[in-house]
Amino acid sequence: SKNGFKETQNDEIPEVCLINTCTVTEKSDKKSKKIIKNIIKRNPKSKIIVTGCGVNNPYSGIKDIKGVDLFIDNEDKDKIISFIEKNYTNSVDTVSNFFNRDRAFVKIQDGCDNFCSYCIVPYTRGAPRSRDTNKVGQEVKELIRAGYKEIVLTGISLGFFGKDTGDSLIDLIDRLVSLKDLGRLRLSSIEPNEIDKSLIKKIKDSDKICRHLHIPIQSGDDRTLKLMNRGYKIKSVRSLIETLIKEIPDIGISADFIVGFPAESDDNFKNTLKLVRDYDFVKTHIFSYSDRKGTAAYNFDKKVTGETKKERASLLKQASLKSAGRFKKRFINRILDVLVERQTDKRTHLLCGYTDNYIKTHITNGKESFKNNIIPTKIISLKGAISYSEAI
Ligand code: SF4
Repeated sequence: SKNGFKETQNDEIPEVCLINTCTVTEKSDKKSKKIIKNIIKRNPKSKIIVTGCGVNNPYSGIKDIKGVDLFIDNEDKDKIISFIEKNYTNSVDTVSNFFNRDRAFVKIQDGCDNFCSYCIVPYTRGAPRSRDTNKVGQEVKELIRAGYKEIVLTGISLGFFGKDTGDSLIDLIDRLVSLKDLGRLRLSSIEPNEIDKSLIKKIKDSDKICRHLHIPIQSGDDRTLKLMNRGYKIKSVRSLIETLIKEIPDIGISADFIVGFPAESDDNFKNTLKLVRDYDFVKTHIFSYSDRKGTAAYNFDKKVTGETKKERASLLKQASLKSAGRFKKRFINRILDVLVERQTDKRTHLLCGYTDNYIKTHITNGKESFKNNIIPTKIISLKGAISYSEAI
């Protein structure tokens, strides 16, 4: 939008359809391909451009799709605008606002060279690269000026930030939290062994940094973690969680887990289940292992059957909901600030939003004026895993 493009509304015919793909799992490849085909069918008069790491993965099958005008490699995304301007557009309207989202996601890092045995990312995104601190600062300033109350820093793992440039995540955070009018700053995914004392202290001491960390733990079992090439043992993850809870009271910890990794036995899986039962995670993302051609695990023996993966995912999901329920219950009758979203929730038809520690809560006495504002609310009840609150 900064370059003068705008999203089409209702029945407008787009000049260009730009599809950003993800190849992190087999499921994401399938979804990307389905979406591309659908868009080609529905937009016969538009130019179709496909980018993202699905384009870089020769095994994704994305480049075989007929009807795409242009494939752009993930690392060439910065050339998309000039390419469209030169080749595909007749006129460009000027717009001054950003897309109508509630939180602004700012990518500060890309790439990874950890080579976890199941993961395609190091092959499709390349080695870790950090963005320039000044550019990130400038972008965040603009987003604050455009009205965003929450900035989410994103990357493959935020802990890699600065390792290639000599910058540090802590310095970047310091710089961003000092920006005038910043509502709050949220950190996204960070590897467990990248969370150190200085980061914990930073979150603890700041009233601008959300008390929330998303940690891709992946398994609660040492044998599986070793096969995954994760580089840590579960004892250190448990100790990290305990330190976080002790140092940052009320912190919301969300996590990723993979079930059905090759050779994962019932006992190995039970260790993951136990981890989720032992702690109160605000949210967990559960992935069933899927083979990614080109990764080490693709050639591992003792693949877990689809049925077992399904069973384990379902058991872990039940445990995760209980875990989140325990976490959310602690806040009943407490007052927490909520960034209220612009759209009402599709299920409850109530205004809703996230607390800084990542509890999604539905506001029973919402008003139009709350939208896109940080409002103090009292958490009043929990129905299943859904939290309800009242603005005070
Ligand atoms: Fe993939 Fe492991 Fe790197 Fe995460 S840390 S992107 S799982 S290789």
